[in-house]
Amino acid sequence: MIHYKNQEEIEKIRRSCLIVCDALNRVAEILKPGVTGLEIDAAAEEVIRDYGAVPGFKGYNGFPATLCVSRNECVVHGIPDDRAFEDGEIVSVDCGALIDGFYGDSAFTFAIGDVDEATMKLLVATRASLYLAIEKAVEGNRLGDIGHAVQQYCEKELGFGIVRELVGHGIGENLHESPEVPNYGKRGMGSKLKSGLVIAIEPMVNLGKRQIMQSKDGWTIITKDRLPSAHYEHTVAVGKTAPDVLSDHTRLEETVKNNKDLKEISIKN
Ligand code: MG
Ligand code: MG
Repeated sequence: MIHYKNQEEIEKIRRSCLIVCDALNRVAEILKPGVTGLEIDAAAEEVIRDYGAVPGFKGYNGFPATLCVSRNECVVHGIPDDRAFEDGEIVSVDCGALIDGFYGDSAFTFAIGDVDEATMKLLVATRASLYLAIEKAVEGNRLGDIGHAVQQYCEKELGFGIVRELVGHGIGENLHESPEVPNYGKRGMGSKLKSGLVIAIEPMVNLGKRQIMQSKDGWTIITKDRLPSAHYEHTVAVGKTAPDVLSDHTRLEETVKNNKDLKEISIKN
């Protein structure tokens, strides 16, 4: 069952998404070598609670934290811990919030210090593919068009591995709702997109092969070949003529640019 949202519900999801993005912006402010996952998690939780919102992931299926903090070969669902971030690492930070009965969800992969060129290409490509996919979130298109946009660019053109087992999702009063939004697919296939559909689009793309496995902690998903993986996510409302991106990375981007310990992930030519 797909729950189509009215405008009032979409605005509630937007509010939740903007709280999430404010938390991610806080992460971008403090992230540098020496900081730990637990520290950025605490900072993000404080931002969310200051709004009177609740972290969306904490307690979800037993997940213990506000943020998923997934470093290097970790794809998603990493648990924040007390290991210090190091120069040359990448870290995917995924955040959810709940306020007024509606969830928001967004993620960004940061590059700390001197990240190698191949990995930077992966980050730029994954981020660019998110926006290519978002362009397809218009009434009349099909779900397959979204996945196809990611796959065509990241896999067919650039040769990166696209994670298949984990997908984007509908979102609203539940963190995960129908439909599933894969990052692969055929153009013109799958169910038709209708305005009022709100989905989290979230390409997870590997530098090497697409295969993944679960690590021993029971949560963290890692690449089988241990090569780095990237993850960017926006919550998007399908529109009649244009997508309405409910989460917003504008300020976060500016913060990354101004943080001398982070590398910019620029998708503009
Ligand atoms: Mg997420
Ligand atoms: Mg999500």
